[in-house]
This record gives sequence, structure tokens and C-alpha cells, in this order.
Amino acid sequence: LAIMKKQDASTNVLIHEVTKTFGDATVVNNITLGIEKGEFMTLLGPSGCGKTTLLSMILGILDVTTGSISFNSQRIDYIPMHKRDVGMVFQNYALFPHMTVMKNVEFGLEMRKIPKGERKRRALEALEMVQLEHLANRYPKELSGGQQQRVALARALVVQPKVLLLDEPLSNLDAKLRKDMRLQLKKLHQELGITTIYVTHDQEEALSLSTKVAVMAAGKLQQVGTPREIFLKPKNQFVADFIGYGNFFKGRLTGEQAGNFIFQSEKGFTLEVRKDTQHKLGDSVILTIKPENIRIINQKTGRNELSGNIVISDYVGNITGYEILSEYGDPLKLNALGADSFPVGSELMLYFDPEHLVMID
Ligand code: ATP
Repeated sequence: LAIMKKQDASTNVLIHEVTKTFGDATVVNNITLGIEKGEFMTLLGPSGCGKTTLLSMILGILDVTTGSISFNSQRIDYIPMHKRDVGMVFQNYALFPHMTVMKNVEFGLEMRKIPKGERKRRALEALEMVQLEHLANRYPKELSGGQQQRVALARALVVQPKVLLLDEPLSNLDAKLRKDMRLQLKKLHQELGITTIYVTHDQEEALSLSTKVAVMAAGKLQQVGTPREIFLKPKNQFVADFIGYGNFFKGRLTGEQAGNFIFQSEKGFTLEVRKDTQHKLGDSVILTIKPENIRIINQKTGRNELSGNIVISDYVGNITGYEILSEYGDPLKLNALGADSFPVGSELMLYFDPEHLVMID
């Protein structure tokens, strides 16, 4: 499609020491973040951490309090919104209810004084891109949530923006549609290559869609990295917890053995953990492991094991989640494949593979 080729996939974004305050509340706190050309960057964090506020400053509906935002080294934070060439999809889509789908998509072109013929042609192309050309004459209320979401996307893309901003665009959809739309969005980004900034609190969405993820908490950046880096090497307990790790043990690295550190927990047990480059003997660390990486074993091996009793069992189809109280009093989370084969109260022997234990500061 012609419109696909015309999308500007060559803009990088630099957010430089940006702070936003409302009264005496600092909602975005000195954030510096670079977004490469064609990147799909996700701002991931809990409700209220400042993601939408940061997006709103890039869009131009909010001013920065201090700092700057640039596209290709040109500052844009003080120029009006309509001159920034940014496309935006809001969480609630914000379609104009009194306009047809076609008119909604044409709107941005009309604002830019594009002649009628070209307007219609480009709006149709954008609707084809999201496979909605057959619904061009409907009104938003005559569409499903997923269809409205696609109209909003077409409306954002039709103006060939330099940067596409998406604020939790999938959060109003049911689980199945959400996943379908996620894959469509991913495909669209691969085809268009447009620099995209996406806001979500859903870690699975962030990992699936993004080329880079920026984890935020309380207005500050916690970690920026590829989905793999974030998932396999969370930098601190906040990121680890948010991304689905559980099982946090406090202690110190007190020895070495066969390429592993010996971790001595405050509670009195030891575990071997694979060495990494960031930690050295004597460091105080937190050890963590994902619930799916703790293994239930039948026989004691005498190494990297703890026993515990099942407190809650949560069968959800292909996996069962167990909450376990360890022999040292730590609450543990474990996900096992398959049905819930162990009753509440039973004692389990658990193996912690040194490869799967992760050290964080
Ligand atoms: P959510 O996922 O719930 O949308 P978020 O991470 O996008 O959360 P923001 O919407 O950026 O969070 O809000 C961050 C904080 O700033 C919140 O505590 C919010 O109450 C506050 N806030 C946002 N806008 C204003 C405003 N105009 N005046 C005062 N406080 C505001």
C-alpha cells in the first residue's frame, strides 16, 4: 500500500532530563531516554507511575516543567501540538461519535487542508491497512471495541506521523481479541517501521511487542533494555517483581564453587548461583527466581534444595500455581505444568537450578 511506504520511519526521539510537576507533586522525575529510529519502545509500569504524563508531553497536550524533547535533534517541546507530526491512539480511542469511520480517519487530513480527493484516497488506504474499508460508512457506536481500536489506529497513521504514540490501546478489549490485536500491531510495526512509543502496565504485552522496554516506577526510570534483558536480568527488586519474578531471598555471597557463588541467606540456608559480571564475593544481594523455574523433585540430591508445604494451589488450565511456605519461613511461588497433582498441605522437595537464580542489588 502506498501509505505504508510513505510513513516516515526515520525519526529518533530524545527525552532529555524531563521533569513534570503538578503543584508540589513530581510526577515525572528527571527522565532521560533515547528512542532510536524505527524502535518500538514501551513504557512499562504500574498505574500512576507517570507513563501517560510522559506521553502527553511528547504529544504536546502537556508542557514539560523542565528538560527537553527532540525529534532528530530538533527540539519540539515548545512547538504547538499540530506541528509535531505525532499520531496518537488513546486508551478509550476518543473517536468522534457524530462522524462516520471515514470522516474520523479523514479528520487529521482535513485539519491539514489536504484536498478532498486525496483525503478520501488516503483515508481509504489507511482503512485498508487495518482491514476496515468495508465499514467506512458506519458510526463508532456501530462498531465493536476491536474495530474502534483499528479506526483509531488508522486515524493516527493516515497523517503519516513521524512518531506514533499508543496509550494502552488494547486495555479495553477481551483477552482473546487483545492477543489478536497485539499480533496485528506487531505486524503493522514490522511493515511500517514507524518509531513507536507504547504505554502499558501489562508485562506480557511489553515483552511481546517491543524492541526496547523502559520500566518506570514513581516517575523514575528503573531499567531500559531489550525485552530479553529486562526479563532475564532485572536490575532491581521492583523490576523483577513487576516482570513476574517471585521468591526473593536476602543474603550474601560468601564463597565460590565450580564457577558458582555460594549464597548464604539471612535465614541460614545456602544456594549455589551462577556467577555474573556485576557481582563479587562479599556482596550483599537478593536472589530471585521465576515461579516456573523452581522444580519439584522426587528425591533429595543434597544441593540447591529447600522443602516446603503447599498453602494454596491455583489450577488455571495448562499450569498450576502453588504458594508454598518453605522450611525457613519464606513464602514461595511456583508454577508447575499440568493439573494440580499435589493437595494443599503436602510437602514438596524443590530444586533451584543455579542457572535460573538471578542476583539483584
Ligand atoms: P495509568 O496507567 O493509571 O494511566 P500512568 O502511569 O499513566 O497511570 P499518569 O496518568 O501519568 O500515570 O499519572 C501520574 C500521576 O500524576 C498520578 O498520581 C496522577 O494522579 C498525577 N496527575 C496526572 N495528571 C495530573 C494533573 N493534571 N494534576 C495533578 N496530578 C496529576
